[in-house]
Amino acid sequence: MKVILAQPRGFCAGVIRAVETVELALEQYGAPVYVRHEIVHNQHVVEGLRAKGVRFVEDLEEVPANALTIFSAHGVGKDVENHARQRQLKVLDATCPLVTKVHNQGRQYAAKGYQVILIGEAGHPEVIGTLGQIPAPVILVRNVAEVQTLDFPPLTPLAYITQTTLSLDDTYTVVEALKQRYPHIVGPDTRDICYAVQNRQAAVRELSRCSDLVLVVGSVRSANSVTLRDIASASGKPSYLIANGSAVRNEWFGNGTTVGITAGASTPESMVDDVIAALARIAPLEIEVLPGREEHVQFRLPVGLAARQ
Ligand code: SF4
Repeated sequence: MKVILAQPRGFCAGVIRAVETVELALEQYGAPVYVRHEIVHNQHVVEGLRAKGVRFVEDLEEVPANALTIFSAHGVGKDVENHARQRQLKVLDATCPLVTKVHNQGRQYAAKGYQVILIGEAGHPEVIGTLGQIPAPVILVRNVAEVQTLDFPPLTPLAYITQTTLSLDDTYTVVEALKQRYPHIVGPDTRDICYAVQNRQAAVRELSRCSDLVLVVGSVRSANSVTLRDIASASGKPSYLIANGSAVRNEWFGNGTTVGITAGASTPESMVDDVIAALARIAPLEIEVLPGREEHVQFRLPVGLAARQ
């Protein structure tokens, strides 16, 4: 069986920073450390940290007084920040800086009097956080059909921002629909879709071209992993989103199938290795890595943590 690995794949700079934040907090402050929401959407990462003494909570009321609390990479709204302040919790903020950038954009547009439209998935923690960071009503839209239901008077000053992990193509279509209805609307085009998401989407497109079947390693809760699977499916190739090697099914593969593998931005490389090991139990493997864009992005750790020496 031939296996082709996409490049880049797996952990992005925001996820590396978030996971390192939790690990350093454990080293420097000691267990237990409380994390609001899953630090990143990957069960393997979450379980590994839980075993080291991390407690994951959805509500800050579950955090004991004076305990250290970390906000996940997805970000939080002002209500959560204020709640932590009221409770005098010590907070490390692992919100990805690219998500914070979107918060800042939204606040700036609102301060200038624009009606802000957020393109994103209702209910996703990043979207809940972004909505909660903008001190004005924000309209959430996900697709072109929802754009058609907007009924702002023609001269309303409008600005849009986007969730960082959406499909570039889908978002472009939504932005174009907004511009068609409201030509004066301002916004960052698709530049809010983060570099890592864009690179992984370009890589899975290339991967789909040269594979018979695509495996995306990641969680069904990870928006960017789901998008990678959707892009591979849209290319016409059978595509599966799987958490690890135990989800691999023999019946997916025929004689000489070329299997493309990629991984979402919150998936550790060990899970890709696990999938490769499962494939190796089915047939001998020939492994090739596609050339792809190199990534050199690194983010500074949150204030309150010392870097490893
Ligand atoms: Fe940040 Fe992009 Fe990674 Fe999300 S996918 S954590 S926005 S770098």
